[in-house]
Amino acid sequence: MIPKDTIDKIIDAARVEDVVGEFITLKKRGANFLGLCPFHGEKTPSFTVSPSKGIYKCFGCGKAGTSVSFIMEHQQLNYPEALKWLAKKYNIEIVEREISPEEKILQNEKESLYIVMQYAQRYFSNNLHNSDEGKSVGLGYFIERGFRADIIEKFQLGYSFEDKKAMGYEAVKNSYKPEYLVKTGLSILSNQHKEGEPITEKDIFDRYSSRVMFPIHDVGGRVIGFGGRILESDKKPARTGSGGMAKYINSPQTDIYDKSKVLYGLWFAKKNIQEKDSCFLVEGYTDVIAMHQAGIENVVASSGTSLTVEQIKSIHRFTNNIVVLFDGDSAGEKASIRAIDLLLEEGMNVKVLMFPDNDDPDSFSKKVPAEEFKTYLENNTQDFLAYKTRSLFNETKNDPIKKAGVIKDIVQSISLIPDAIIRSVYIKECSNIMEIDENVLQLEVNKLRRKINSKSDFKKEPESFTNEVEDLLLTKEEQIPATFVTEHEEKELLRLILNYGNVVLEIDTENKEAEPHVFEITVCEYVLFELMRDNIYFQNPIYQMVLDEYIHQLQNENLPNINFFINHPNPAISTFTIELSSLNHDLSDKWSTFGVFIEKEIFTLKKSTQHTLYSLKEKRLNSIISEKQELLKTTEGEENETMLREISRLTQLKINVNRLLGRIIVK
Ligand code: ATP
Ligand code: MN
Repeated sequence: MIPKDTIDKIIDAARVEDVVGEFITLKKRGANFLGLCPFHGEKTPSFTVSPSKGIYKCFGCGKAGTSVSFIMEHQQLNYPEALKWLAKKYNIEIVEREISPEEKILQNEKESLYIVMQYAQRYFSNNLHNSDEGKSVGLGYFIERGFRADIIEKFQLGYSFEDKKAMGYEAVKNSYKPEYLVKTGLSILSNQHKEGEPITEKDIFDRYSSRVMFPIHDVGGRVIGFGGRILESDKKPARTGSGGMAKYINSPQTDIYDKSKVLYGLWFAKKNIQEKDSCFLVEGYTDVIAMHQAGIENVVASSGTSLTVEQIKSIHRFTNNIVVLFDGDSAGEKASIRAIDLLLEEGMNVKVLMFPDNDDPDSFSKKVPAEEFKTYLENNTQDFLAYKTRSLFNETKNDPIKKAGVIKDIVQSISLIPDAIIRSVYIKECSNIMEIDENVLQLEVNKLRRKINSKSDFKKEPESFTNEVEDLLLTKEEQIPATFVTEHEEKELLRLILNYGNVVLEIDTENKEAEPHVFEITVCEYVLFELMRDNIYFQNPIYQMVLDEYIHQLQNENLPNINFFINHPNPAISTFTIELSSLNHDLSDKWSTFGVFIEKEIFTLKKSTQHTLYSLKEKRLNSIISEKQELLKTTEGEENETMLREISRLTQLKINVNRLLGRIIVK
């Protein structure tokens, strides 16, 4: 753990122009610097660095951030790694939080496990290239499968001898502890060994024998596990447990290998994924390797386990776009469906690609020349939802009942997408393909979204306040509106509290009975009070995240300013805040006039805050009302009457809000 004051010291020292300048040539332009963007290919510079604000922004590709996020992005590091990188550059000593003796042992032990794994990788590779058995059996196998020598080298492939004592003996001879061989999963403890007694080389035997070895690397390139394949070339032998020899044996879960977090090939792929801004997802080791051999390097495999959220997040760090390659058989397709739902849920753009017959990427790539393989990938990739809609729809065209089922299925997938704008694009597209009213689809999606939202982070109940507009207190259900209408207001409110949080406003009470009087309240108190009073959450999850963090900071008696959020460890928050800080002066050269701008805005602060608040409320009400009107069509009898009353109540509220809004607009 890096202590907070060290982080501040690093952020202070790491001047953005200095850090960026280490990688690209910057030219001075007024108060800013300009250069060629390192994140997308460009010929005319649009990458702007503002020393006064401590941020960079590319007006070509939109990437923006601080010196820390630049290093994260450019060097492919996570937040603490980037801080350490900068600390080194500026000679800042990081004294990490004291770790307990237990933690220390664990840390040292982990280091030992990495070292053992590195040894094993070299050992298996050496077997493959420099022993008779390895050359004839292991290398022979790879060559027969068409693996090229440079690819065998690159992926550090290896071979484990038939003799089940070979690896263990050799490792112990080279002073590696048997205990660590067991802890890495390389060796298996025999049941001769008595618990509590020291482990010797006699107590262990090799997990892998007579197998070709595929080392598994973490994202930083360290070997953390192995997959070992039998040499028989049968197509689909039994999975583990069913008596026969398992085709693959993978490392067990260890202190350094968590199979739910690792993707095979990510280390080799990450740079290319970023360059191509896209990633192929395949099933197995050999698919990854075959794609590299065909010149495609942005590829990873989940290696036979079902895809996890952690794995998706590790791809998402590098790109938004994923192409899932299905095996030709329908089992491959079915297995992928759940994975695809997860990908959609994580906000990724999902495309799919099918291979003909029973081919997988490996077998297909061996049938056609590399160029043809690439063309096939280019021409046969299709958007997942469009594909799903089309193929399901074609099956059920003339069967209305089945068709209804299909619609439910597709709506279900669409509702998983977190971004409302993307959802509505899909709704439009699917309504075209299926010849169904867009509104009907939208309604269905909204229903499912409510379920999703009430399940996740909409749990907390803010306090309610009694007030004239208390009626506005809507249930959580009612708050998820039909379309993403209040984006602008949400952003604007955040901009106001971040820039002017502690500015005092004079607000008139609205209470008719009480003596008219004016009370003082800061911008941030006012905005938070109004939002909480009406139980309003932001629709955009990132905005809500910023708001939550803001409130959290206030609770700890800090008034966070815009720089706090610009330097936030969460890149989503940091990027958004940078966007926000240049909202009204999008052109880079206007940054210098920021000061002037603030001066003017402060005079109209009360008006703009109130206007934004009421406009947000009005829009929310509008979408709730139209949604209710839509529902009205499907209700009857008593239910219908209740609905009507509800609509009239909401409409009255809207009139009230409009009245308030009108008073603010009219000068
Ligand atoms: P090959 O081309 O060598 O037959 P593959 O990668 O095509 O291998 P599949 O049968 O398609 O193999 O399996 C996909 C992935 O699932 C494998 O790469 C491996 O990671 C994993 N896997 C397959 N069989 C097993 C098994 N018995 N135990 C554990 N993992 C397995
Ligand atoms: Mn295969």
